[in-house]
Amino acid sequence: MAVTVRTLENFVGGSWAASTGEHVREIVSPATGEVIAEAPDASAADVDRAVAAAREAQPKWAALSAWQRGEICHAIADLIEERREEFARELSLEQGKPYLGEALPDIDETAENFRIAAEDVKRMESAVIPSRDPAKRILTFRKPNGVYAAITPWNFPTLIPVELIAPGIAAGNAIVMKPSEWTPVAMANFMQIMADAGLPDGVVNVLYGAGEVGERLVAHPGVDCVGFVGSHGTAEKIVRAAGLKRTLIEASGNGPVIVCADADLDRAAEGAVFGGFFCAGQVCCATERVLVHEAVHDDFLDRVVRVAGEWRLGDPFDESTRVGPMNNEPTAAKMDAHLEDAVAKGATVVSGGGRASGWPTALYYEPTVVADVGRDTLINRDETFGPIVPLIRVGSDDEALEVANDSYLGLQAAVYTSSLQRAFRYLDSLRVGNVVVNDSTDYWEAHEPFGGAAGTRTGWGRIGGRYTMLDMTDLKTVVLDVGL
Ligand code: ADP
Repeated sequence: MAVTVRTLENFVGGSWAASTGEHVREIVSPATGEVIAEAPDASAADVDRAVAAAREAQPKWAALSAWQRGEICHAIADLIEERREEFARELSLEQGKPYLGEALPDIDETAENFRIAAEDVKRMESAVIPSRDPAKRILTFRKPNGVYAAITPWNFPTLIPVELIAPGIAAGNAIVMKPSEWTPVAMANFMQIMADAGLPDGVVNVLYGAGEVGERLVAHPGVDCVGFVGSHGTAEKIVRAAGLKRTLIEASGNGPVIVCADADLDRAAEGAVFGGFFCAGQVCCATERVLVHEAVHDDFLDRVVRVAGEWRLGDPFDESTRVGPMNNEPTAAKMDAHLEDAVAKGATVVSGGGRASGWPTALYYEPTVVADVGRDTLINRDETFGPIVPLIRVGSDDEALEVANDSYLGLQAAVYTSSLQRAFRYLDSLRVGNVVVNDSTDYWEAHEPFGGAAGTRTGWGRIGGRYTMLDMTDLKTVVLDVGL
């Protein structure tokens, strides 16, 4: 069946508006290779209009009560739940993730984020502070930060935007969204749902385009703050363009999984493979490298190969598929380069190891297991972002810690051990924002604080429920002289 090619429009001040930009991008499904949409880049004038719409809407929106804004968030969640299948199908088609195992759960979690925000905002209390002067009363109020530029990636094209949008708008901010140029359709669908649910005009606006549009938006004088999720290289540019604007930055990870000599090896193999292959490895908290104690290395590798064999690569709409195509060529090419580099430096490909043939696009990548990966490899040093489980041998806990921390990125790590004492040693010493003990690096819940460790290039601030809401609001202190 031929797909209808949609032409996407910006969403500004409550209505769809054709872009006045000249460059038009074709959006190609990584699953089928078909063009599914055309997305014109926003022009400078479009950016001005979207920012102006957000500025106009924000004070009126912030003036509603937390309950009133929460009600809209619940209405958005209701509509997401009602349209979940249609929304998830388009997400799979555009992003490549398996419909049943990943796209539907993504959509459900998108709704959950609105439910959480709707309730959290009702409990955003702040302190009344004792005063030295008996005539004074010191009160604090939590106030929205204003107009946010939100810039997001292609791996979770609804879930990541909503991690900023839900707490952001629930708290009274307005947002100009720039989704990834690889996955704009998901955002168009999502914006329609928010509008249909009764979100007032201008509270969320959407512009399409790539880095140039993003940079213009970040630097725009009408934008107060920036929320960004994406790669660390882009994060550096955004921070420079943002200057002194408040930023919330969650960038790349290089998730180490540590398999100690006393680990439950079956559980560790399940978790390492899940973390390596879920979303074809294109997750900021994916398993990027597995540091295995040499005493259990060979046993563990056998189990990993067995579990990896259960992860079938295929059409994302086939119910038995566990790994879909990668989303885009630059990311698949990076996976090629990382593999090639590791093999040239002595690693052994145990299973998979390249692009699969016979599929409509070259983005179907064989789920890959590699052993004996050296420390001086791209896989160990950088984020690979592909369906790979790379094993690195270590001889002790000290060595595992040293390899894990020898990275400029620090988002999430997993440790498999049966010793509480050992687990605590790792969680105290790993330079990451999140540590999971005895489950995958990809374990998260929508409301938990998630983000990078200071001293790394993963960013700052926390994504997740009320922690994002705290980040996207500020305390206003009021001193009252009550004349007593
Ligand atoms: P990823 O590979 O995870 O998509 P990127 O960092 O390349 O990571 O992209 C994340 C988002 O950042 C995308 O929406 C992209 O268009 C946007 N972006 C890229 N370059 C810039 C830039 N210089 N300024 C602002 N946004 C940018």
